[in-house]
Amino acid sequence: MQQQVSSLRKQFQNEFGQVQHSKEVEQLKVKYLGKKGPIQDLMQHLRDAPQDMRPIIGQQINELKEEISRLCEQALQSFSQAELAKRLNEEKIDVTLPGRRRFLGREHPINQVLDEVIQILVEMGFSVQYGPDIDSDYYNYEGLNFPPDHPARDMQDTFYITKDTLLRSHTSNTQLRVMENHKPPIRIIAPGTVYRNETISSRSHVFFHQVEGLYIDKHVSFADLFATMDEFLSKLFHAKVKTRFRPSYFPFVEPGLEVDVACSSCNGKGCRLCKQTGWLEICGAGMVHPEVLKNGGIDPEEYSGYAWGMGIERMAMLRYGIKDIRMFTENDLRFLEQFA
Ligand SMILES: [Zn+2]
Repeated sequence: MQQQVSSLRKQFQNEFGQVQHSKEVEQLKVKYLGKKGPIQDLMQHLRDAPQDMRPIIGQQINELKEEISRLCEQALQSFSQAELAKRLNEEKIDVTLPGRRRFLGREHPINQVLDEVIQILVEMGFSVQYGPDIDSDYYNYEGLNFPPDHPARDMQDTFYITKDTLLRSHTSNTQLRVMENHKPPIRIIAPGTVYRNETISSRSHVFFHQVEGLYIDKHVSFADLFATMDEFLSKLFHAKVKTRFRPSYFPFVEPGLEVDVACSSCNGKGCRLCKQTGWLEICGAGMVHPEVLKNGGIDPEEYSGYAWGMGIERMAMLRYGIKDIRMFTENDLRFLEQFA
C-alpha cells in the first residue's frame, strides 16, 4: 500500500506538471480528491492493511491528500492572477482615444436665408401667405396678363402636367388668390418653391425658391418700392449694398424693373457667376398691371400697387460667395457643415 501511495504521488506530479490553465487544475483536483478518486479509494482500503501499519499509511495518504490540495490551490491562485491580468490587458480601454463624433443636423443655408428674409419683411409690416406648387394656367399665367401664345411665356420654360395644370414657374401665382380674398390695403409676402424646365448650370436650376411681395393701397408709387427694397437689402446684408434698378419687362407689371446687386464673388469686376457684368439679378419687380388688379377684383382707378419676386438662391450665393447654385442640392456634407 505504501507503494501505491508513492506511485499515486508520482502520477499526480506528472499530470500536475502538464497543466496550463486553471480549468485543468480544477479537473485534476476533482480527479484525485473527488469521492470516486484514488485517494478516497486508498482510504477505503486502509482497513485491508496490517493493523500496526494503518496509522503510518493513513498519515501518508493524508499527507498526499494535503499536498495535492495545496499544490492545486497555489496553481489556481497563480493561474487566475495571470488570466485576470491577460484579460485586463486585452480588454483595456484607451482613454486617450478621441470620442466618436455625434452629427447634429443643421438648417440648410437656403432655409436660413429664407427664414431671415421672411423675418425682416414681417418686421417691415408684411404678412405671410402661401400659394400652391401645382396650379392652373390661369393663376400662373393667364390671369397675370400672359394670354395664350404670349411670347413672354417662353421667358419661363414651364413644366406642364396637363394643358391647364402646371408646376408654378413663379410665386406670383399667389397674387390673384390674395386679391380675390382680401380687400386693400394688401401687404403680403409669399415664399415658396418654383419650377422651371431649364438646363441646370452654375446659375440656374430646375427648382429654386422665391419670395413674392405684394403691396396694394391707395397712392402706392415707385418710390415706395425703391424705399422698401433699399431698406430690406441693407437689413439682409447688414450694410448698404450697391444696387441697380434696370427697366425690364414682365407682363403683370407696368412699368417693370429688375433689381441687381453688385456681385459679391468678384466685387463687381466681372466673373463667371455674374456673366462678367459685375451685377447679379436678385429680383424682378414693378407696379402691378391695371389688368391684373381688375382680374383680382380691385379697381385700378382707386388703387395701385407694387410687386416683386426675389430669388432666394441668388441671395444666399451673394451672401456666402457661393459660385455654383448646384451646391445647394448636392447634399455634400463638407459644403453644408459650413453653415452652422
Ligand atoms: Zn462676379
